[in-house]
Amino acid sequence: QDGLDVRGVSKAYGSTLANQEIDLQVAPGTVHVLLGENGAGKSTLVNLINGREAPDAGEIRFAGALVAAPGHTRPNPAIATVHQDLALVPVMTGLENIALALRRRPDRALRRAATEIQDRLGTGVDLDRPVEELELPQRQRIELVKALVAQPRLLVLDEPTTFLPPAETGPFLELVRRLAADGLAVLMITHRLDEAQAVADSATVLRHGRVVARHAGPQLPSNA
Ligand code: ADP
Ligand code: ADP
Repeated sequence: QDGLDVRGVSKAYGSTLANQEIDLQVAPGTVHVLLGENGAGKSTLVNLINGREAPDAGEIRFAGALVAAPGHTRPNPAIATVHQDLALVPVMTGLENIALALRRRPDRALRRAATEIQDRLGTGVDLDRPVEELELPQRQRIELVKALVAQPRLLVLDEPTTFLPPAETGPFLELVRRLAADGLAVLMITHRLDEAQAVADSATVLRHGRVVARHAGPQLPSNA
């Protein structure tokens, strides 16, 4: 298995079965959407995929390497996550924020790497402006560039459109499609079916911690 492989993963918090025997695969070059209402277990699974928490049962691998299993976590550097709360320092520029996150210097090499990604994605955000002067969609693009400078092979997007104005959602989802066309594996978490339909190659629907539906193709059901 080349991409992400989640096998039989369960995780409980006290008596809450947050994830129950979840199976999910994301191949390189595809967008997989994880759908579910609040409390369905999406964030729990993201924390396990990030190697921040260990499951009670099952295992998670990326390109064959173990990421999480009972009593075992090993965050994989090939996995990058864009969280829904944009973790940027407002008084710092985009480039400085990217440098801070990567523990690098905001030097020419980093600028070149960030600019290359911007060119590829067509984002074109001014990396030299303090983030506090940028609109939310631009800040989110900085987050995306920040995640991509580390050259991940799996990008996890946790409710990425939450703070976007409705008019920005379409362009953002197109950006996600371009990332996959570039060969990245993308796992996008959302509770919005319309967004899932717009972007997904395949999808998994969670309810009460369980997989209740799977869709191999872009054609999602209207009752998810
Ligand atoms: P979602 O991201 O789909 O909204 P979560 O994974 O956050 O769902 O939550 C799934 C269930 O697990 C919920 O009932 C939630 O309250 C519970 N839960 C999640 N994380 C914790 C935690 N750290 N401690 C206790 N309960 C948790
Ligand atoms: P999201 O909006 O992404 O679904 P949630 O609000 O479900 O996020 O959860 C945010 C964080 O809080 C997650 O890391 C989750 O594990 C944790 N969490 C969720 N429910 C609980 C809970 N009942 N007790 C403790 N932590 C929780």
